[in-house]
Formats: sequence, structure tokens, C-alpha cells
Amino acid sequence: MEHTARVLIIGTGFSGIALACALQKAGITDVLLLEKADDVGGTWRENTYPGAECDVPSALYSFSFEHNPTWHYKWSEQRQILEYLRRVAHKHELLAKIRFGQEVCSAQWNESQQCWVVVTVAGDTFTAQFLVSGVGQLHRPAIPAMAGAESFSGPSFHSARWRHDVDLTGKRVAVIGNAASALQFIPQIAKKAAQISVFQRSANWVLPKQDRAYLPFEQWLSDKIPWLTRLYRFRLWLFGELFLFAIMRGNRVLRWWGERETKRYLERTITDPELRRKLTPDYPIGAKRVLFSDDYYDAMARPNVELVTDGVAELTTLAVRCTSGREIAADVLIYGTGFHSNPFLAPMAIAGRGGRLLAEAWSGGAQAYLGVMTSGFPNLFMMYGPNTNLGHNSIVVMIEAQAGYVVQAIQGAEARGAKVIEVRSEVEAAYNVEMQQRLATMAWSQVAESWYKDRGRITNNWPGSTWEYINRTRGVDWRAYRLEGASSSARSITADA
Ligand SMILES: Cc1cc2nc3c(=O)[nH]c(=O)nc-3n(C[C@H](O)[C@H](O)[C@H](O)COP(=O)(O)OP(=O)(O)OC[C@H]3O[C@@H](n4cnc5c(N)ncnc54)[C@H](O)[C@@H]3O)c2cc1C
Repeated sequence: MEHTARVLIIGTGFSGIALACALQKAGITDVLLLEKADDVGGTWRENTYPGAECDVPSALYSFSFEHNPTWHYKWSEQRQILEYLRRVAHKHELLAKIRFGQEVCSAQWNESQQCWVVVTVAGDTFTAQFLVSGVGQLHRPAIPAMAGAESFSGPSFHSARWRHDVDLTGKRVAVIGNAASALQFIPQIAKKAAQISVFQRSANWVLPKQDRAYLPFEQWLSDKIPWLTRLYRFRLWLFGELFLFAIMRGNRVLRWWGERETKRYLERTITDPELRRKLTPDYPIGAKRVLFSDDYYDAMARPNVELVTDGVAELTTLAVRCTSGREIAADVLIYGTGFHSNPFLAPMAIAGRGGRLLAEAWSGGAQAYLGVMTSGFPNLFMMYGPNTNLGHNSIVVMIEAQAGYVVQAIQGAEARGAKVIEVRSEVEAAYNVEMQQRLATMAWSQVAESWYKDRGRITNNWPGSTWEYINRTRGVDWRAYRLEGASSSARSITADA
């Protein structure tokens, strides 16, 4: 079947929903959203592991235009965030525009028709003047290749594909990896498993979350006086901008203070000096994601939990063999090994001008002007694209800025009589040089490997404050773009702002 839309959005997580709402508000209604799953929610639909919750407080990790006075906790659990996204999609009447069960496998720019031709796994074809990717950076679970993996006879699964049918009560569980998701599920499963062996590659910097349930009185206040919550949101945002961002930028005083606070927290909760040593990171704070938890260290101190820092040599029928030769029995294997954040937009095959594949254009690592558009791929926008991830604030702040920018670009191009908009290659190149120069001075550059990097280059993170990003995306600088009119004239318009 063939379908057409003026704007086609891939994905219905925070990004897809934010953009669809912004387009609607701007009066652009000929919009379709393609979603490979059968529900909205993205990250919050996929990650159902025990203890899954946001690590940016909900008052900030939510849309500024959709206030929610009923958050149960300061840092909401997955179920409530998913419910929130469903509610926003419903309220803004997006459900009728979403085609569920439509996984995009390819998209090709049609030069003569000046449109994108998108094909899905289901065999449907969609054509659209504008194509927007909202597939996120963290939706493809990464499972490391391990010798003997096929011989392990117990259940094994990734945290983003949690097997709720596997009862962990009384089981010996091996957890491979200990980053953000593992930090959340380990304290939960430690309550029921007989033994948990956590295989750690590198330790995390962990700050206490100080989470608590909201009192009914606070929810009532938030409902009746929404600006109070907005004020609280502003305070949270400011803390990230001033304090956490300064740590990412390598401010020595704040880094010293942050490391001291995290070490004090570790010392308060872990009494065993050897365990404490193993849990102390060997890289500066901020170089990898700083994590927040109230119960991770307590869980690691439990008698049924062991932190293993030997590498994994191989898996056997019912055990993990360490590089030291030690064999640790396991009935169940859980991968808390994160996601393939690179290459961006994979595995979709996206072909731009002259049939050039995005994967080829990005063979040296993903890049995009403002994280939103890349040259050679006209009328293709990206939400949460290259160099727009954060280590210090809410991604939703970036996503809302991008949604506003994409709407302006679409409207502005049309107002200038153009059908096609494409970022100038020299502008994108200069922007990318700026990004890499600034990123080289950030904390993330101080570790050889992290999910922020692709072959040594930081492709995921934004080097500035969110305030800077908001300002740079507040309006479209038309000098950065090449505009083309209708195909019949195929003229190039150099439009001024
Ligand atoms: C466990 C976890 C916790 C997190 N916590 C936080 C937090 O506290 N704060 C924060 O700022 N960020 C957090 N993040 C980052 C989070 O990914 C972003 O905040 C945000 O959810 C990204 O939204 P998105 O819509 O861009 O992408 P996603 O939420 O990943 O949504 C992408 C959507 O695109 C769909 N899709 C993908 N490929 C295709 C295709 N080919 N065809 C059709 N549909 C497709 C997916 O099914 C999905 O619905 C967390 C991430 C994870 C994994």
C-alpha cells in the first residue's frame, strides 16, 4: 500500500510526540508517525525491568507544555512515564496519525519528485516531503559477543528485553555490566535471588538520589498552582546548568567537590574496604554518565551480592568463567550492557542525493548541523540526533528545542517559496569542527571508551549548556541553508533571514 503525508515522523517516544504536538500547534496537520511497536513511549515502553525509572527528576523530565501534577515520586518509575506519554499522545489526538507495527527499513530521496520514499518491513510505502527521524539514541540493546554464549543453558536476556516470565526467586543470577540500568535493577532483584554476581568493567560515580513519594498535599498544590511546579522545574534545570555542566566542563573546584561527595557517600554505605576500592572509579567524575541511586551501594553490600572485577573469559552451560580461571555458577544471565548508540539511525538504510547512503556519509562518525540536519540529505531532519545528548540535564529540554526548530524550518522554507531545504556542507563542516574542538576540552574526552564515542570521536554529546542550545535553535539562520523551489524550475534560492 502507498501512503502520503507532508511530514513523516519515525518513532513515537518523547521526540516523535513532541514534534507532532509542535507541528499541530503550528497548523501543520498533514502528518503521519510510523512506529515499529504497537504502542507509543519509546524508551519507556521498552525498558520494563524492575526498578526502571528516570534519573532526571520528573518535573524536568517531562514536557514543559504538559504539566503533570500527579507524579508519584520525584523520580518517576517507568510505568508512570509511559502512562504520561500515552496521555499526551491521546490528549493531542495523535493516535489517529500513528501507524503502529510499521518498522522503517529504508528511505530514499527522490530527486525528481522532491520527496522521501519510505519503505517499511511490513511492505508498505510512504512518501513525504519532509522526513523526521525520532528513533532516539538508545533503542538497540547491545549484547557483547562472549565465547561460549550459545552453550549457556539457562535463560539469558538484556535489561531492555526483560523476561518477566523468569522468576528469579532463589536463583543464582549473573549480571554482566553495571551501568545505568543495572544500577536500578540490581537492588530489586537482590531482594529475591539467592546469589547475584555483578560483573563490572568500570565503576560508576554515584550520587544519592534522595527520592521520595510526593505527598497528596504537594500534588494538590502542583495541580492548583502550576507555576509552583514550573519554579521547581526551573530550579532543577538551573542546578544541571550551573553545577553538573560545570563538572562536565572540568571545573576543578566542582569536580573536587563532586568527587568528595560521591566518595563520602560510598564510605557511609560500604564498610568493607576492598569492596569500596572496587566501587571507586579510576577516571574523573563526569567522564562517563554520573548516576543517581539511593539503594545501589546498599544492594552491593548485601551478603548475597558479589562484585566481580575479573573479566569474563567465557560462558559455560551454567556458569561464567572468569579470566582468572574462577568459575561462577549462574542459573540466569542478565545483560546490563547498554545500547548501540552508534551508528545513528541504524539499521535503516537512508539514501540521500545521488543514492548516497547516510552510513557512507557518516563513515567517519555521525555529525549534523545543530544535530538536526546533514548535508546531502535534503528535507531530512533528526530529533535527538548527533551531538545532542547530555550528561547534565534533561533530554526533553533538547527535544523541545529541536521540535520548535524543525517546525520553523518547514514553515520558513515554505514562506520563502521553497520545497526543499538542505544545510550547506561548508556550514555543517565548520559546525562540526567547532563541536569537536569544544568536546576535546570536556570531561568525556578523558576516557578512551564510552557510549558517547564512536571510534574515539564523541558523536553523541552536546558540549554546551542547554541554554546555549535553546538559543542557537530559537530561530533558523537561513544563511546556513540552501533552498530549492519546485522541481519544474529547480532553481536555487539563497534566502536571507
Ligand atoms: C533506561 C533508560 C533511562 C533513561 N533515563 C533518562 C532520564 O532520566 N533522563 C534523560 O534525559 N534521558 C534518559 N534516557 C534517554 C532517553 O532515551 C531519552 O530521554 C528519550 O526517551 C529519547 O526519546 P526518543 O523519542 O528520542 O527516543 P526513544 O524513546 O528511543 O523512542 C524511539 C522510538 O522510535 C521507534 N523506532 C525505532 N526505530 C524505528 C524504525 N526503524 N521504524 C519505526 N519506529 C522505530 C522505537 O520503537 C521507539 O518507539 C534514558 C534512556 C534509557 C534507555
